[in-house]
Amino acid sequence: MLYPKEFGTNPLFPQATDFRVTNKDELSGSGVLALRSFSAGELVAVINGEIVPEILQHTLQIGKGKHLLDLYFAGYLLHSCTPNVSVDMQNMTVTALADIPANTYLYMDYAQTEEVLYKQFPCSCNSVACRGWITGSLEMPTGARTIQAEAAEATGLT
Ligand SMILES: [Zn+2]
Repeated sequence: MLYPKEFGTNPLFPQATDFRVTNKDELSGSGVLALRSFSAGELVAVINGEIVPEILQHTLQIGKGKHLLDLYFAGYLLHSCTPNVSVDMQNMTVTALADIPANTYLYMDYAQTEEVLYKQFPCSCNSVACRGWITGSLEMPTGARTIQAEAAEATGLT
């Protein structure tokens, strides 16, 4: 069990035999590595944590002014614009969106749960669907390099 005892003993909570929170690299920081494979559509884990009123670095939004702080598992899911897991914050579940081989990092799309990010950032997921600059679903880019600036640059309009 990755969670402390206070979280309860739900057998669907992430198990230490199935996942490891580990430093991926300098750029990405910590991520959740799946130690076993999952099939597309399979329940990856039921998540839990402390409900806090504010957006913190490792929170996931449940609703307005309601955020889950899970410093053992879900708070360390990395972002990809082509995620391999989906996070349902109403049912507190993480589900595989694709077949996930063992020893693969889990990636969610932060805009799936977050209206506003703790911090916007340039994405390096390298997927064809990459949005380039990652924001919450309800906020405008605040970065020095916005997607528009990037596009203008690419077409030589700067
Ligand atoms: Zn991306």
